Amino acid sequence: MREFAFELRLCAHLERAGGVVARQLGSSVHGVGGRIVDAVVVEPGPAFDERADLTPHEIPTEAIEADVGVGRWRRVTDAIDGPPERAHAVAERAEEAGFFELGRENGQRVARQVARYPDDWFGRVRGIENKPDLGTPGDLESQLRFDAALGLLDEAVLATESYVTRAHLNRIPPEIGVWRVDFDSEDPIEVVREPEALDPEDWGVEILDEAGLKTDIAVCSRAEKRAKRRRMAERAYGKGWRTYTQPACERAESGAEAGAGGLPYCAFKNRLVDAASECGPECSGYEPGDPVEVDLDSERATRTPWKPDAGARRRQSGLDKWS
Ligand code: SF4
Repeated sequence: MREFAFELRLCAHLERAGGVVARQLGSSVHGVGGRIVDAVVVEPGPAFDERADLTPHEIPTEAIEADVGVGRWRRVTDAIDGPPERAHAVAERAEEAGFFELGRENGQRVARQVARYPDDWFGRVRGIENKPDLGTPGDLESQLRFDAALGLLDEAVLATESYVTRAHLNRIPPEIGVWRVDFDSEDPIEVVREPEALDPEDWGVEILDEAGLKTDIAVCSRAEKRAKRRRMAERAYGKGWRTYTQPACERAESGAEAGAGGLPYCAFKNRLVDAASECGPECSGYEPGDPVEVDLDSERATRTPWKPDAGARRRQSGLDKWS
């Protein structure tokens, strides 16, 4: 099975167990454009409902970390780190997300939070690397070494359709768990090896580059890891896993897996397809048409505690106030 279809189907199953599921999230602390984790499950913490009531969108971490509270208006350029243009851009993104209210005092842009940010809204974070066919591992081993050394996640797992041999297990770090996935089975996930707990509360080592015997690393502090985990959790909450497009083709249908509908299914290829890379005139089955209409926000809202309309009334009254 292709990795894209495998990933969507697995996400649909993971979502059934609760938590926030998202695809393709960056986990590098120092590296630019570095490690991307295929699927992430963020478990709810004690204040999850408070977070869900705040906004359905990702809240910029620069705004969460800014010296802006609920009650008192603060000058944007004083409260947010960095040059004024960056501070204004962060404040505007936070307002669009529904986290800041913006106003003017003495000709200066001022901000305050619309509600307290609940730090403990998320708990454990699990990362899953999808490799349906272990016969074509690509960068798998180095990706899993990265996760084990950095310890940003609470646990990391390799998910595959392949039969997992002792040789496979020996090649990946012992901390990494292994699932064998069979979507035709009533219980599709077989745990071949349990993951060991990683330690997000300790310092971590980020592998920046490996070339022959030379490995470039960066040491990551506890505070850096904590900030990155929150950024990742926020990204997961705002993004989710339904980040695919529907093919503009007559052969496309709305597919389903594990009760989740709206998946990009192709009746010609008889499987889920990645419209961005597979669909168009180059495909022998292509018949131009309108994309299937599916309401992916409703899909997500009916299956998870994510609230698509959270804060909408507050955002609207804020706009009225300043218009
Ligand atoms: S373009 Fe090809 S792969 Fe995409 S939906 Fe149409 S027939 Fe299927």
